[in-house]
Amino acid sequence: MEEKTPKVFENAKKQLEAAAELINIPEEHINLLEKPRRIIEVNIPVRMDNGKIKIFRGFRVQFNNLRGPTKGGIRFHPNVNLEEVKALAFWMTWKNTVIDIPYGGAKGGVICNPKEFSIGELERLSRGYVQALERDLGAERDIPAPDVYTTPQIMAWMMDEFSKIKGFNVFGVITGKPIELGGSKGRDVATARGGAYIIKEAEDRIDLGKKRVAIQGCGNAGATLASILSSEGFKIVAISDSKGGVMNEKGLDIDELLKHKEKTGAVSGFSGGRNIDKEEIVGVDCDIFVPAALENSITKENVDKVKARVVLEIANGPTTPEADKLLFERGVTVIPDILSNSGGVLVSYFEWVQNRTGYAWTEEEVREKMKVKMANAFEEVYSKALLFKVNMRTGAYVYALQRMEEVLKLRGY
Ligand code: NAD
Repeated sequence: MEEKTPKVFENAKKQLEAAAELINIPEEHINLLEKPRRIIEVNIPVRMDNGKIKIFRGFRVQFNNLRGPTKGGIRFHPNVNLEEVKALAFWMTWKNTVIDIPYGGAKGGVICNPKEFSIGELERLSRGYVQALERDLGAERDIPAPDVYTTPQIMAWMMDEFSKIKGFNVFGVITGKPIELGGSKGRDVATARGGAYIIKEAEDRIDLGKKRVAIQGCGNAGATLASILSSEGFKIVAISDSKGGVMNEKGLDIDELLKHKEKTGAVSGFSGGRNIDKEEIVGVDCDIFVPAALENSITKENVDKVKARVVLEIANGPTTPEADKLLFERGVTVIPDILSNSGGVLVSYFEWVQNRTGYAWTEEEVREKMKVKMANAFEEVYSKALLFKVNMRTGAYVYALQRMEEVLKLRGY
């Protein structure tokens, strides 16, 4: 997956352009919307446990702030690169518009392998990222959150560092924090719960067959979605992580599987299923395939192997434009990332609202508000797709682009 990331931003722009062809948007506006507003690159010195200073390269792309402060997660990964961060920041812009929250889009990344760090090293790197970007972040300016291999603890260190620099607590500078430090109830499971709401909305309009699910990725999003869906009558027949996969046609016992993953660090070797190669997950016989790992998971090379009738994109950018087109021609419904995984940023927004008002909501309040927003977004996207006779991704971009065009006009562009 990782080697193909340099093309990922080019692919992302094609998704917007497909929508722009269908509606009347001035070319200069599309030009403007395809350019990141600010790109920040930093070098972060970190004192490692062996006493030596190591320099880590970090990025923050603030893509677009037309609809509000920029917002998007921070990824710690050995393969993260500027092209990928640009694409992720671009998608955040459109996701925040589709789910209708008053934010622009941003994303951050640090080239590192957090699995090799001690806790102390991880903390020093997290604080270092904030020190390097302190002037660019802020509750009214740019608000990070977790992404791949970043956690609530990392968000807590970052919020603490930012607050120390400012001299007062700024809870709203970052979301995905632990509950004790201004986090929102339901944020930890929000991406997955949002995905589950979307698949339930889809159920009324799309045939989900026997509701057999295969999930690629067993982290925050993938593992939580497996638990939620299996408790709601879906059968999880396969799941994979960065080391391998496991499958059982009769359905995996997700509670037991997650205990096994917790103990051994991998899904493979689970006694309640048989091992598969991690690449095999895309072609597993199932009704719903859920990519929940990294970009470029379904490509023109492996798209023929997809047996699912529905792809629920929980990862950002898991389907390349070529594969997307082939899936649409074959009648496979792809529910796009900027809709399917928007539950995470939605509850991040709720967290920010709670921080700014100083009042914490109950989990029920979070769920209720979430359900309404997710259902509205699904309806808007689905009806645009029907109206223009296009796939749901293009439907989502049409909807978002029309809204963005209004904002551009009102702002005087
Ligand atoms: P995470 O770090 O918790 O988990 C990532 C998972 O992907 C891990 O299980 C890892 O083993 C697995 N993985 C890595 N390479 C793989 C491979 N080649 N094959 C199979 N699995 C592989 O990250 P996450 O927060 O669960 O994010 C997963 C995806 O969801 C990312 O694309 C992220 O951008 C997206 N997303 C996350 C959130 C959120 O709130 N966490 C919100 C929106 C979108």
